[in-house]
Amino acid sequence: MGSPISPVLACLFMEFFEKDLIPKVTQARKYIMKRYVDDTVVVWNNEEDFNMFFSQINNIHKNIKFTVEEEKNNRLPFLDLELHRREEGILTSIYRKPMYTNIHTHFFSCHSMNVKKETVAGFFRRALLYCNEEFVSQELEFIKQTFRNLGYPDNLIEDIYHKTKRKMYPKKVTKKELKEEKKQRVIIPYMDGLGDLKEIIPKNVQLCYRSSNSLRTSLVKTGGIRKENEVRGLVYGIPCADCDKWYIGETGNTLKKRIRDHRYAIKTGNESNAIFKHIKEMGHLIEIGKAVKIKTVKNYGVRRTTEAAIIQNTDNINIQVKTPLNIAFYNNLVFKTLNNEIVNKLKNC
Ligand SMILES: [Zn+2]
Repeated sequence: MGSPISPVLACLFMEFFEKDLIPKVTQARKYIMKRYVDDTVVVWNNEEDFNMFFSQINNIHKNIKFTVEEEKNNRLPFLDLELHRREEGILTSIYRKPMYTNIHTHFFSCHSMNVKKETVAGFFRRALLYCNEEFVSQELEFIKQTFRNLGYPDNLIEDIYHKTKRKMYPKKVTKKELKEEKKQRVIIPYMDGLGDLKEIIPKNVQLCYRSSNSLRTSLVKTGGIRKENEVRGLVYGIPCADCDKWYIGETGNTLKKRIRDHRYAIKTGNESNAIFKHIKEMGHLIEIGKAVKIKTVKNYGVRRTTEAAIIQNTDNINIQVKTPLNIAFYNNLVFKTLNNEIVNKLKNC
């Protein structure tokens, strides 16, 4: 099941197997038959009948062989649930394999607090959704103990539990809460030590983290290979031939188009263009033809943040620092996450 398409193919085949092939070999009546990808749970009232059915379905296709696990003490695991057969029907609790290690993200691990909170919340959500009343308090206590062992403070665990419960069974949304939902979102790379940023950014801005450079982002390129000058959405630099300064810019368009804009601004003497101003004031030659892409960034917010980080860290001719988050130490951190030749060259300016 390594390829992403495998579960889809498995589901398609199993559906065909159930609907078209099984009825051809057996008319045996099953009370319940539920399947998730390749795990099936079946309920029968007669063992002999079941054994016959089992041998028939195992002869349908040479590659599809079933194994069977029967209930023990009225209990049967299915996926991550344990099914309990009772007079009143089938009850469910959370099932863990005997080799389950109970190891999750440690409280002191280098992840954003949101990731840690969401890990705990995920466990609470599953318990509240799938455990019958009889098992839920035991499961909740197990989760709390698990995360206490991983260094999570008691009050944090309780807080996450109550928030998760409130989200699952919400009250009517107030106007104030609706307004909060419409917060502007800023997505930035996560680095250890960024936890306090939330305290200094404006209240109407929601801060979200994404992981910075990963093996996947470095190795996997989706969407085919584009010619370099067709890439849209990038941060670029233009060097001055007569001094060590750079012009740093960003564009949602192609670099080629942006260069054309700069050329036009110079030709028409546009005072608000930083390159024209540098030429006029210093008499230097700006080599627009030597403009280089520093980094491809599709997302507008991330692109502006990246541009701001580079402007803050290089000797440049930009007129103003246009930045969504003009926080010096944060920009320094973002700059450190950029990793390529040109940035290294800029660092040496
Ligand atoms: Zn210059």
